[in-house]
Amino acid sequence: MNQVVELAAAVRVGKRASVSRDITLVESRREDHRIQARELLNDLVSHPQSTVGKAARIGISGVPGVGKSTFIEALGTYLTGIGHKVAVLAVDPSSIRTRGSVLGDKTRMAKLSVDPQAYIRPSPSAGTLGGVARATSQAMTIVEAAGFDVVLVETVGVGQSEITVAGMVDSFLFRTIARTGDKLQGLKKGILEIADVLAVNKADGERVREAEVTARELSGALRLVYAGTQNWVPPVLTCSAIEGTGIDQVWNRLVRHREFMGSRGLAEKRTNQQIEFMLSLVRDELEQRLDRDTHIAQVRDEMRQALLAGDVTPGAGADAIIAAFDESVRAKTQNPDAS
Ligand code: GDP
Repeated sequence: MNQVVELAAAVRVGKRASVSRDITLVESRREDHRIQARELLNDLVSHPQSTVGKAARIGISGVPGVGKSTFIEALGTYLTGIGHKVAVLAVDPSSIRTRGSVLGDKTRMAKLSVDPQAYIRPSPSAGTLGGVARATSQAMTIVEAAGFDVVLVETVGVGQSEITVAGMVDSFLFRTIARTGDKLQGLKKGILEIADVLAVNKADGERVREAEVTARELSGALRLVYAGTQNWVPPVLTCSAIEGTGIDQVWNRLVRHREFMGSRGLAEKRTNQQIEFMLSLVRDELEQRLDRDTHIAQVRDEMRQALLAGDVTPGAGADAIIAAFDESVRAKTQNPDAS
């Protein structure tokens, strides 16, 4: 058997060690690994009994400290307890390390990391958001092929990474903690548009009431955003990851969101995501090429100076940079060995 076929067969049996090995392969940037990874993913997707695409894909975000790892530990343990196989993946492009934490850190999910029905994989460390997203989405294929039927994708509540994760999952859970009035305004508007379920965490002890007030206010804000639509209106719940309360309700709402989409709605959503993802990978690669090429970088710097001096318009500057790009592509085509 060739190596890739062996790797694929071992994953289908659901061995965690094989899952890790395969994810390491798809994360690798070595050209020969990339070729093998492509072959492996093709094999996993096209196998007659393939379980790829069968999992519930859930994105989970929230700013550092909101209690994501504690919650994922609680939700994951609840889910394996009711018979699911749970994989936890992470998207952390900026390599944000908060209080020594890394997304998908096993030491912060002590129970789940030793649960035989669970698999936790930290974010691929280096690279651009596009690169990390690509590796995570391929890791998703691998864990699904290994029979994990719930995939939780953790990300930080900052910047573009939430939008990226929303583009690779079926349902998006946004987590926050109690905050009211003005501070609520500070919640990024975009979040209300991508979240399918919201949960106010740390609803325990003295903070229960505060959490409930926040949930009501958020609920009101969402009703305004979604007024008059037939679409799913994201529910706002409260929970305590530490006490383990409200976890099952959060899960029930996520299940209901999938039911609301129906199998056709879900298939359509995933198709659109794939198209968008493909195009975003192209944009990412092109952007990197623009940055890597010294000739283009030089023209870009010249245009920046010219723009500051008022010698070119932004449009003319952009045209000059694109012309440099075209030139560089032409030069490479004529002389493929030149770097
Ligand atoms: P993350 O950075 O979002 O992954 O947050 P953590 O899960 O590491 O939690 C950050 C801090 O909040 C830790 O000190 C947790 O013990 C605490 N915490 C997490 N969930 C809860 C909760 O439900 N209630 C309370 N009171 N504290 C919590």
